[in-house]
Amino acid sequence: MAKKSISTSSVSDSASVLDISSKLLSWYDVYGRDLPWRVVGAHPNPYVVWVSEIMLQQTTVQTVIPYFYKFMERFPTIEILADADIEDVLLLWQGLGYYTRAKKLHECAQRVVSDFGGKFPKTYAELLKLPGIGPYTAASISSLAFDKPEAVVDGNVIRVISRLYSMTEELDQIKPEISKRARQMMPQRRAADYTSAIMDLGATVCTPKNPVCESCPLQSDCGAKQKNLVGEIPKIVPLKKVQKSGPLFWIENESGSVYICKRHEGLLSGLWEFPWMAEETTKDMPPAFNFPFESDWIFTKKSIRHTFTHIQLSLFIYRTKTNEQDPDFLVFQKKTGGSFVPQNDFKDYPFSTLMKKVIHETEDAKNKKMASKKTEFKDMNLKKTEFKDMNLKKTEKPKIEKPKIEKPKIEKLKIEKPKTEKIIKQISDF
Ligand code: SF4
Repeated sequence: MAKKSISTSSVSDSASVLDISSKLLSWYDVYGRDLPWRVVGAHPNPYVVWVSEIMLQQTTVQTVIPYFYKFMERFPTIEILADADIEDVLLLWQGLGYYTRAKKLHECAQRVVSDFGGKFPKTYAELLKLPGIGPYTAASISSLAFDKPEAVVDGNVIRVISRLYSMTEELDQIKPEISKRARQMMPQRRAADYTSAIMDLGATVCTPKNPVCESCPLQSDCGAKQKNLVGEIPKIVPLKKVQKSGPLFWIENESGSVYICKRHEGLLSGLWEFPWMAEETTKDMPPAFNFPFESDWIFTKKSIRHTFTHIQLSLFIYRTKTNEQDPDFLVFQKKTGGSFVPQNDFKDYPFSTLMKKVIHETEDAKNKKMASKKTEFKDMNLKKTEFKDMNLKKTEKPKIEKPKIEKPKIEKLKIEKPKTEKIIKQISDF
């Protein structure tokens, strides 16, 4: 089958790519963003460039800034990072998501220290061999730290180039052409500034929605602008999300500590969590499941919703109190390898945003319960005051109605003997 050619005809074809680069650089000299990991020209510390670039993948600049400061304060050099415990790294990464990035970052620091004496290799090919460094990060370190003309292609660059060259096909089809154009546009001098310039243009002017074409230095070269196609480029087919749903088990011991275990695989590997499981479903409710061990389980009527890149997840919280020596529980503990942790110590464990939502939800429930008790108490006090006032006027003692507190109907779930094997497997499959 003949290969479909990508149409990139536009006014920009006639413009010199070097002219475009030079316009971008002049614009950057005036409007470039002032960011904590940026300097004019090449950055003297590749470690700073590397950490910021890894953090910025799939995350916005505004989200990254506070994380970057904290990270640099705790791990100011690659040697300190390499020497650190991975749990400390994950603790600082909490909330940034994509935790495998943090683990690879740590692994890469150890490799750079052990194999390169703590200095990043300077060639694109050598950088590419390091853990967690793909074509994008290798090109960004090469250009931003070593001023080498390696073209970076991220979401911002894709948007600018596809619009500039009026590429109307679906994104997957035009990616190779975009990389080719990006290499052509990369100047031999000021590579670091040029990389920052094209990324800044995509982030601040050529934005996904409502780009500010009137302020764009490439306006007269832009194919999409000339053809009135800006809103249609790049053509991105939305990712279909899979819906998953299942129970989460909040297990307390007699002193109120909660059972947590460490995940060893998948997206959330290395983080601590409350045991949970999920299956693909079409409904927003947990599919049939067995509890992990025999106990008085209560459905809290609380659920957590969380969106991963490709999954829409709903977790329904069940809770129980267990005796740590219960033989059934011990079997479950042996398989999941977790332990009970006082709730005040949760801050010392790296949890994903998903699990933080669970903690927040349960804390919120606790606070609401306390607040409602305080309100009851206040109401009673108020009534006492009323009573005193009335005593001044009347001799008759008024009847005080005690607030009626309805006992919540808690459904206790009668369970069958659990199939622990299945639970463990489903938990680790996610
Ligand atoms: S003119 Fe508009 S669409 Fe074209 S590159 Fe500039 S901001 Fe983007």
